[in-house]
Amino acid sequence: MIDAATLDPTMRPFWEGVRLGEIRVQRCAACGSHQFYPRPFCLRCDGTTLAWVSASGLGVIHSLVTVHLPVIDDLAPPYRVALVELVEGPRFLGLVAADVEIGDRVSGRWLGSEPGTARLRFEAAP
Ligand SMILES: [Zn+2]
Repeated sequence: MIDAATLDPTMRPFWEGVRLGEIRVQRCAACGSHQFYPRPFCLRCDGTTLAWVSASGLGVIHSLVTVHLPVIDDLAPPYRVALVELVEGPRFLGLVAADVEIGDRVSGRWLGSEPGTARLRFEAAP
């Protein structure tokens, strides 16, 4: 569990978004590129005017794995974890259902809203 006292201030806008059900990423004002994790400069153009925006949550499964060993106390294996490339560009890890595969379009939403315990869940999208 991560509490406010131990929360990295750089990530505070991201976790505020989680509490609102948003997947927030940084957007560069100069070139429009999106990035995550947050940085003080744009990875594409070195611009330093970055703002937090809410991503669509839509993306494509880039890679996928089934976890068979207990790793998290309240998450019993087996479960599937995917690396999803959002349409905005950044990639996020999240839980996925059994009926999606690499290359499938998915939509993500948060399960929970607290730093350290909230998890992204991606489901098939049309
Ligand atoms: Zn840029």
